[in-house]
Amino acid sequence: MKTQRSAELFAQAQQLIPGGVNSPVRAFKAVGGTPRFIARAQGAYLWDADGNRLLDYVGSWGPMILGHNHPAVVEAIRAALEEGLSYGAPTEREVRLAELVREAYPMVELVRFVSSGTEATMSALRLARGYTGRELIVKFRGNYHGHGDSLLVQAGSGLLTGGGGTAKSAPSSAGVPQAFAELTLVADYNDPEGLKALFAQQGEQIAAVIFEPVVGNAGVIIPTEEFLEALHRLTQEYGALLIADEVMTGFRLAKGGAVELLGLKPDLVCLGKILGGGLPVGAYGGRAEVMRQVAPLGPVYQAGTLSGNPLAMAAGIATLKTLFQDPPYRRLEAYGKALQEGLEDILTYAGLPATVNRVGSMITVFFREGPVRTYAEAVASDTERFKAFFHGLLEEGVYWPPSQFEAAFFSTAHGEAELEQTLRAAQAALTRMPAS
Ligand SMILES: *Cc1c(COP(=O)(O)O)cnc(C)c1O
Repeated sequence: MKTQRSAELFAQAQQLIPGGVNSPVRAFKAVGGTPRFIARAQGAYLWDADGNRLLDYVGSWGPMILGHNHPAVVEAIRAALEEGLSYGAPTEREVRLAELVREAYPMVELVRFVSSGTEATMSALRLARGYTGRELIVKFRGNYHGHGDSLLVQAGSGLLTGGGGTAKSAPSSAGVPQAFAELTLVADYNDPEGLKALFAQQGEQIAAVIFEPVVGNAGVIIPTEEFLEALHRLTQEYGALLIADEVMTGFRLAKGGAVELLGLKPDLVCLGKILGGGLPVGAYGGRAEVMRQVAPLGPVYQAGTLSGNPLAMAAGIATLKTLFQDPPYRRLEAYGKALQEGLEDILTYAGLPATVNRVGSMITVFFREGPVRTYAEAVASDTERFKAFFHGLLEEGVYWPPSQFEAAFFSTAHGEAELEQTLRAAQAALTRMPAS
């Protein structure tokens, strides 16, 4: 496959931008090789700067659930574009998108739009601290909630593959003061006993527990019922807020995200990714009583020059309306089931120990035997094997996330032909890998 133009652009980019990228995982550091510079996209496919067509399983890391350039979304942005780009004053589109959010998440009585998932989680934490008058936050090892200082403590995503400081010590990025990190307590995902012990020690000082309701940022990890039950019970018992970080899972796993799928009752929800349909949007929302603490109603300050941007709102409205009018979740599940079973068959035939974790249209192939339910089990995967898998797929024109510790996503534009191409590519990639 030709990569000359991508290589040239990457060389130029490295002279101008740290590592040549504006978000670490894009640099292919975990898998090596030349990151593909993307020129355009349509439906399930990307075209890189050398003209190669790639079947996309990154989906801009989650937003593109309708595939690239969905006509309804493109048309909505075009219409907004004709009217004006940004006013710094309220617009009707913000009201319409807020209505759609509440339709999907009835527990979100009030919602505030921001411009990224990071901003959503940062603001939700500030709100939780303001509301409870407490300072400690609990997060889970390997969960990623964006790059806010308090949340870069044993975090997932790019931090698991050398994108930041050291993955194993707290804080997990240089530049995060130890004093901040000390306000963030880290517990193990799917470990209700550990969480119980933490609350027994410091429960009265805990403002909030933030969690990925289905983990995507350590690869896909599925929560156990006992864990979810403990989250609800302990936060309630100790008066801490429960914050479901649905930036990745919102509108992806169901219309009402993991909250609907798993029957969760969080106090606050963070949204992003799909909410912006490919443009920069995040949001946090929840019970009115809590949200009324946010400025201008309350003392918790949070603002944004481009918050509620008309183009971004238009893309979000068109995306959610399209999803709600003809919910694709059963079709995505059918595609996912066939993809998972196909991959499992090929892995078994090739004699490669692996575990495929999937919820709906989020999937990870972990190269290790046995279940993957925790961060520790995820990081015990054979990343050399993952590398070979990744490059094998890429050679066959399938663009899988360039890290063992990220979820792959597919969209409503992925159909029979794409499934066949993927399984053929996986067969080619896996059967030429050494078994041990
Ligand atoms: C992507 C992600 C974020 C951060 O969102 P950005 O828009 O990249 O700032 C936060 N939480 C979760 C669960 C995510 O997947």
